[in-house]
Amino acid sequence: MQVLVSKIEKRSWVEIDIEQLKRNYLLYKSQLPEDFKIIGIIKADGYGHGDIKVAQCLEKLGVHFFAVSNIDEAVGLREAGINGEILILGYTSPYDAKTLVKYDITQAILSDEYANKLRIQGQKVKCHVAIDTGMSRIGLDAKDINKCEESIRSFDTCFNVTGLFTHLSVADSNDKSDIAFTENQIKLFDDVASRVSDLNLQYVHCFNSAAGLHYNYLLSKYVNIDKIVRLGIILYGLHPCDVFDLPNGIAPVLSWKSRVSMVKRVASGNYIGYGRSYETKSDMIIATVPTGYADGYNRLLSNKGFVLIHGKKAQIVGRICMDQLTVDVTGIPNVKMDDTVTLIGKDGSNTITAEEMAQEVGTINYEIVCDISKRVQRFYD
Ligand SMILES: *Cc1c(COP(=O)(O)O)cnc(C)c1O
Repeated sequence: MQVLVSKIEKRSWVEIDIEQLKRNYLLYKSQLPEDFKIIGIIKADGYGHGDIKVAQCLEKLGVHFFAVSNIDEAVGLREAGINGEILILGYTSPYDAKTLVKYDITQAILSDEYANKLRIQGQKVKCHVAIDTGMSRIGLDAKDINKCEESIRSFDTCFNVTGLFTHLSVADSNDKSDIAFTENQIKLFDDVASRVSDLNLQYVHCFNSAAGLHYNYLLSKYVNIDKIVRLGIILYGLHPCDVFDLPNGIAPVLSWKSRVSMVKRVASGNYIGYGRSYETKSDMIIATVPTGYADGYNRLLSNKGFVLIHGKKAQIVGRICMDQLTVDVTGIPNVKMDDTVTLIGKDGSNTITAEEMAQEVGTINYEIVCDISKRVQRFYD
């Protein structure tokens, strides 16, 4: 028997607004020239939003291509009934070649060495060849264009090569030299693509969320590159960076909630939490919240971050524990056990964004949402 668990019984949970996800997709798409296609980037469990639910939503909107980071994610999507193309953007063990073929999964070819190891498995794996145009992470070096061409042609004899891709490293910057760098990455990619244009590869792609908005004009010049965006962060309503505004109406899809587990008065001169890092300088009212770093709540927010209770900001006091944290609710009347606590999202007129949390701890919003751990159940409205 399946036990239905409601949010009411949860200690810490995430709410995903599927309607907002749809709006984000449609708004983003409306910013592109009409014939652009979207690859839904749902790696890392859809940036923590739940890859299967996100894929199902996008499929209904006409997206038939998804990209993930590893074979477990890819197989999970197939087993959930996702039929579209699924590309693994990073490493898969060559020993998994049979599984790739069995589930009709497309694998990125990372290097000549990778291709050689995959080749000896004797499987006609569907693949996209990664090209390195300046990020120095994965892919064939675009600067050695003759070698690039030779490799791609040799891969085409033993694998089912259906695509070519590169990744842009500073497409989210408006710095002049970064713009020149990005334009050069795109040019290098087009050069490689033009050398193998006779292979008629189905998918030749290089844009992430940010590039789709700011560099799509280049595709009238570089005709060997297909009009495809690998849409990640903006789909989830989050900023790729802090220099560009998002199109109007695009908003975060994810909220993270918890509840008050205990409220108490703490007299002046007491300490709160591990390490006695916070000392009360006056009588305070402290609320305990059952969410901690094991839930993915970044411990660097100790004595720094805040949560929302009754629509008001409550400062985190003391260190964040594995499963709990403590906040100052002295200025918020009538806080009681079981009251809802907003960790990310909106409550009344106040909002806490993943961007703000990221800034506090010196990271990016991508990491904040990816870090929300599996034990925090996701609910879909
Ligand atoms: C993650 C990723 C993307 C998506 O990037 P966003 O900035 O989230 O749009 C696109 N391409 C590759 C290769 C990626 O790894």
